[in-house]
Amino acid sequence: MLNLIIFGPPGAGKGTQAELLTKKYNLAHLSSGDILRQARDSVRFGEKIKKYQDSGKLVPDSLVIEMVEIQAEKNISQGLIFDGYPRNLKQARSLTKFFKKNKTTLTTVINLRLSETLAIQRIIKRGKTSGRSDDKLSTIKNRFKVYRAQTAPLLEYYHTQKKLITVDGRADITTVLNKVQDKIKSLMKK
Ligand code: AMP
Repeated sequence: MLNLIIFGPPGAGKGTQAELLTKKYNLAHLSSGDILRQARDSVRFGEKIKKYQDSGKLVPDSLVIEMVEIQAEKNISQGLIFDGYPRNLKQARSLTKFFKKNKTTLTTVINLRLSETLAIQRIIKRGKTSGRSDDKLSTIKNRFKVYRAQTAPLLEYYHTQKKLITVDGRADITTVLNKVQDKIKSLMKK
């Protein structure tokens, strides 16, 4: 059973790689950003989610954790790839408990590494076609601030658990994918 987290700053290519890995290993793709964007139509939470997403701040844990874990639980037997989740220590700890409760384990965290300058260039390019209201410079800057303060510390959390693999995220899509697959293959041999 493969359970993966694809990790990295905004613009690292997490969504793209997660899509490809989903097909390759027949996983369930759990993008917290997508799950939240879909919930923007909801009468109860829509306005709140929109406010946080449009400012680049993290949506409160009380909302995100439950929404993601419900989807994860539904797909637990298939193997999971988390994309954009966890984004802070509280979410990461909850996910650790989630795996334990479901008698399964996290295989590995794949960290896509690249400079902030390159990541910002990519998001601005994506913004031209994504239609995402948060792909604009003022929000992007905030998303990086949030990444540095709240999300990047998870690298240490997973490194300590010996669950962290880092791949050079600067290369083109296929090169990155091949490197990720090589790493997964060598893990599965162990
Ligand atoms: P993404 O699609 O992953 O780039 O996420 C877009 C936005 O959705 C973020 O800037 C946050 O406002 C929100 N979001 C996505 N994932 C999370 C998460 N795990 N925790 C809190 N907020 C999130």
